[in-house]
Amino acid sequence: MTFGELNLIEPILRALSQEGYERPTPIQEQAIPAVLKHRDLLGCAQTGTGKTAAFTVPILQIMHQEPDAGRSTRQIRTLILTPTRELAIQIGESILSYGRHLKPRSLVIFGGVSQVPQVDALRKGVDILVATPGRLLDLMGQGYISLANIRWFVLDEADRMLDMGFIHDVKRIIAQLPTKRQTLFFSATMPSEIQSLASALLHDPVKVEVTPVSSTAETVSQTIFHVDKKNKPRLLLHLLGDASIQSLLVFSRTKHGANRIAKDLVKAGVSAEAIHGNKSQGARQQALQNFKNRKTRVLVATDIAARGIDIDDLSHVANFDLPNVPETYVHRIGRTGRAGASGKAFSFCDAEEREFLRDIQKLIGQRIPVVEDHPFPLGTAAPEAAPEPSERRPSGQPRQEGRHPRHGNRPSGRPPRTATGRSWPRC
Ligand code: AMP
Repeated sequence: MTFGELNLIEPILRALSQEGYERPTPIQEQAIPAVLKHRDLLGCAQTGTGKTAAFTVPILQIMHQEPDAGRSTRQIRTLILTPTRELAIQIGESILSYGRHLKPRSLVIFGGVSQVPQVDALRKGVDILVATPGRLLDLMGQGYISLANIRWFVLDEADRMLDMGFIHDVKRIIAQLPTKRQTLFFSATMPSEIQSLASALLHDPVKVEVTPVSSTAETVSQTIFHVDKKNKPRLLLHLLGDASIQSLLVFSRTKHGANRIAKDLVKAGVSAEAIHGNKSQGARQQALQNFKNRKTRVLVATDIAARGIDIDDLSHVANFDLPNVPETYVHRIGRTGRAGASGKAFSFCDAEEREFLRDIQKLIGQRIPVVEDHPFPLGTAAPEAAPEPSERRPSGQPRQEGRHPRHGNRPSGRPPRTATGRSWPRC
């Protein structure tokens, strides 16, 4: 499917193409038509699936098509509520990108910074407000914000709101919204409190969900390396000392991370390139071509950039960061071991990623063998320079995770936890 087939207007199509997006992600394919039909939406999707565009793009279009779109006095008509400052900023940037030819006035507000510029911007008039709950309530309380004209309301990452203790604030905000509105509700998991909130908020919603995947190909051998975050670049270089790794696809959670990994590798003499959403389509295609032709040995990609990449006989995949969405792990390692060929997937897990590993193992229903015999075990991060790749030998044999108490990876007997640390059911 193409974006053109989603009935999007030309200024938006142009913006998406300028962003380098070639086709909609599954959540976008499902959500955009439903929102354009003015339906309420219940979206089960995590960050990384393209969910921001799934709600901002159709809202931008509907707002633009409203008869009073060109009016001079701007009142807040769309409210996007999100739990963290980072997400708020990211959503604000997405609105600027996808709406670059429509030019709605948007504003991002969050706490921990002076409210003065936010209040100034509010006074000038805002069409779309992206907010975290605390600051929104503050400014509402001071009379700077009224929600009386809200027509579109997005609740993003509802389960995280609950996890972060914001649910009461969220309910107070919701109580101020006009009843006649379109509501889009996103949550990665559906604990009972979130389910009741969704039923109270949504009217006959269209449910969209990114299909969960749970099985990993048997032809892929998977291993985990417990390593300090700081030592990950060294460990990657160490592994690349194994000449049998002719091509390696490395996954990074962030664009910035992908750039840094590629840069470090190049500095160490390994040919590497990064692909992610900030690169032009041409640059991404060129990088992919170079990787396929074996001109570059390592391709570093973010999850979305890697979508649709089909590389024959890719033998190795590395997870530089463990994904916080377990299904993403399955997608990532599914890049290798295709069509019955054997593949290897290495994953680096630092102390902060333990929860992610637990979720992944729960999803795939197996323990991933841990490689212990490597030069950078957990707790050994040191500032000295890494040895050259040529001085290294490949790592030793993996062991079954869970047999070594010092890594703390024994089956705990506790109920499965999500990446946010709660025992919540999936969508
Ligand atoms: P999100 O899940 O909204 O945080 O999006 C994750 C990343 O995917 C962001 O960097 C977006 O810019 C990018 N992205 C979203 N939709 C697409 C698409 N259709 N094609 C390529 N990249 C996309």
